[in-house]
Amino acid sequence: MLKIGCHLSSSNGFLSMGQRAIALGGNTFQFFTRNPRGGSAKPIDEHDINSFLEFAKNNGIEKILAHAPYTLNACSADPSIREFAKNLMQDDLRCMEYVPGNYYNFHPGSHLKQGVDVGTEFIVNMLNEIITEEQSTTILLETMAGKGSEIGRNFAEIAEIIKRVDIDSKVGVCLDTCHIWEAGYDIVNHLDDVISEFDKVIGLDRLKTIHLNDSKNPIGSAKDRHELIGKGYIGLEALVAIINHPKLRELPFYLETPQKEEKGYGEEIALLRSLYVE
Ligand code: FE
Ligand code: FE
Ligand code: ZN
Repeated sequence: MLKIGCHLSSSNGFLSMGQRAIALGGNTFQFFTRNPRGGSAKPIDEHDINSFLEFAKNNGIEKILAHAPYTLNACSADPSIREFAKNLMQDDLRCMEYVPGNYYNFHPGSHLKQGVDVGTEFIVNMLNEIITEEQSTTILLETMAGKGSEIGRNFAEIAEIIKRVDIDSKVGVCLDTCHIWEAGYDIVNHLDDVISEFDKVIGLDRLKTIHLNDSKNPIGSAKDRHELIGKGYIGLEALVAIINHPKLRELPFYLETPQKEEKGYGEEIALLRSLYVE
């Protein structure tokens, strides 16, 4: 069965997200751990979490995907901004242990004028300070579109970070279809080649989740503008080939398409389910 969900607002807690995911035809979901611009986390509501864990078990929700605030920059030139990112991620990972065994995705960061090597060093250092043997959460590096000075614009930049993390068993990758398309990977005409390249450079065993988005821009535009499924330059046919690909079809897929209301995701989920070959 296709594992699919969408990005949901976390303001009403875990049980509400689980119920809405199921109501939309999904069996997983993504959420921001806190306000996407940063800010303080909500206090842990153990009653809500226990109700969610029970609901998830009874409704076939396996893994869920947390997303760090996208304004974090673990490789800023400003040490106080790097420190902020580290403390926030550490706190998020502590909270994630209340829903053990799931995924926590973050954007590697923007090196600004420091260059990729310096930026990579900061990201690696942060990960080595926060990852513990005890944590049950797998941290995912998201593949980026390459807007501005984003690190993670190609598979080699992601691989370099993973290679230098000490406890690398806690690290994986979230592949965003809109981002890699805008970064120049031709998933429309050469999907097999892109997957083999990922395997060669990073290793497919690192690939844990996929952000399934269409793109408002042509290949290589590095702008990071998501589009509704089938309404952009990637198109429905290529996205359907991705969910059915033998090397990808068992992974969980997450929609981050520009829907105005959550019910729009329900329509995309139904469409993709109808085109998934069981
Ligand atoms: Fe993201
Ligand atoms: Fe994404
Ligand atoms: Zn994006």
